[in-house]
Amino acid sequence: MVTETHQGGPDLDAIVIGAGFSGLGMLRRLRDEMGLSVRVFEKGDGVGGTWYWNRYPGARCDSESYLYCFSFSDELLQDWSWSGKYPEQPEILSYLEHVAERFDLERNIQFSTAVTAAHFDEAHGFWRVKTDRGDTVTCRYLISGIGCISTGNVPDIPGLDTFQGAWHHTGAWPHDGVAFEGKRVAVIGTGSSGVQAIPVIAQTAEHVTVYQRTAQFTIPARHGTVDRRLIEEEVKPNYASILEAARHSAGGVPAEFSARSAFDVSDEERHEIYERLWANGGHKFLFSAFGDITTDLDANATASDFIRDKIRETVDDPETARKLLPTDHPLASKRPLIDTDYFDTYNRDNVELITLKEDPIEAITETGVRTESGERDFDIIVFATGFDAMTGSFFKMDIRGRNGAALTDAWSAGPRTYLGVQSAGFPNFFMITGPGSPSVLSNMPVSIEQHIEWIGDLIETMCTQDRYVVEPSLVAQDDWVAHVNDVASQTLYMHGNSWYLGANIPGKPRVFMPYVGGVGVYREHCEGVAAADYPGFTFDDGAAITQTAAG
Ligand code: NAP
Repeated sequence: MVTETHQGGPDLDAIVIGAGFSGLGMLRRLRDEMGLSVRVFEKGDGVGGTWYWNRYPGARCDSESYLYCFSFSDELLQDWSWSGKYPEQPEILSYLEHVAERFDLERNIQFSTAVTAAHFDEAHGFWRVKTDRGDTVTCRYLISGIGCISTGNVPDIPGLDTFQGAWHHTGAWPHDGVAFEGKRVAVIGTGSSGVQAIPVIAQTAEHVTVYQRTAQFTIPARHGTVDRRLIEEEVKPNYASILEAARHSAGGVPAEFSARSAFDVSDEERHEIYERLWANGGHKFLFSAFGDITTDLDANATASDFIRDKIRETVDDPETARKLLPTDHPLASKRPLIDTDYFDTYNRDNVELITLKEDPIEAITETGVRTESGERDFDIIVFATGFDAMTGSFFKMDIRGRNGAALTDAWSAGPRTYLGVQSAGFPNFFMITGPGSPSVLSNMPVSIEQHIEWIGDLIETMCTQDRYVVEPSLVAQDDWVAHVNDVASQTLYMHGNSWYLGANIPGKPRVFMPYVGGVGVYREHCEGVAAADYPGFTFDDGAAITQTAAG
């Protein structure tokens, strides 16, 4: 436990919250490249963040494995070998544990410790951070690496506390695993987590009942073992240029975006293109066929219709197929999904689908789930019901900036940041992949590393130029929030009830939270701000602070 021992100055240069990709990378940057004193507080008893908690069956990432990694060390890139085309949760966790060990990071991480409060001490110009283990520690820079999708959403369904079986949220999965053999299982939710978990659970459970609120578009992932020849002969010798292309791309992967319209080709040719991309699998279906699938409703309808036909073809029972057809939102207006055997799973005798819009849940009972049409008994309920994304984890901590103002109040109508890295009134508090940055719309490690580098550079500038405190101006923040909304309003994202908009959490302000302008555009904007000596940010040299502290 750390106790406050300073005489006017902070205990540490920096505190980082969370030991996932963000926290590990930030620790290495601040400690090893800048020589700062740093402590990471991590709630879990190991590193990994998202990949420490999300251990549900079938959990893996939708980014291809060779792109889902740190890029700061060429030796690390060359030495590590992924086994799957897409990285699976146990292997991503092993990778992050390897990084922590290889770069000797754990000695600066305090595990099993959640930050409960962080208050900015204006007189001293530093943050006072409290944890659930009784620590009180002060630091000059406070950096959040808490992730965007870390606070689980378990819906407030009456009767859950009476359920006599076991229930689990995908984002807080038991480390010993869950045995489904011989069990009657309910899965509530069909987003990325549900679509991955349902086919795997159905392989061993006696019976699975899926409770679906919104039918989903999902594209086959065509997951398999990694193409070793591709990795050894084409990726590893060219890693630097591949990752540089990822950094300047739209979504953090070096992808060829098609410039043609879906209506530049005949119906037959369009169908052949969709068939080929469906057979190849993955998110390429969305962007390498035509440039307007994600921007034009009519073009989008051609791809949406193709997927609906695939669902009808795949699912044997016409009534189940009907229920699985997404009809209330355009393709890719919610988080795009890729899957393995998702629709095929509904052909199994032990899988049944309930659509909540036709047959809503009334209550959870001692023995199961009751919907309008009747009650079903279960041994296990799996909540694949998502997260209070982007803001939920910030609000679990009592974060207070200037004048004791709470972040919950500053963001009561939706998160407000400049560039997604800082919020006005919260000096020297930085967010890795905060709201207003492209993060969740991208291959995360690329966005995370960009923030680590940019925040690191800013702190380095402050250290070398005797700038004590930094925060964005309200004007710069208001302009950025308006820009984030403006860009989003031109996209189809506004047509889906997604967690990007906070629509999954009752009462949450309906504001599009991530920046949809693209990873490359955003990076160039951030680089321009740094090159121009940080317009939109105000610096304080700390003279008044030093006097107050000394006095
Ligand atoms: P999600 O996408 O928010 O999906 C939650 C599901 O639960 C949706 O089907 C939602 O229905 C349903 N739901 C929510 N509240 C409900 C309620 N009260 N009653 C009934 N159903 C309810 O959550 P997620 O699947 O955990 O994924 C969250 C994000 O994590 C993803 O979008 C992705 O960014 C990331 N993730 C990525 C991967 C990957 O890379 N493959 C895997 C897992 C997660 P509605 O659609 O009607 O809201």
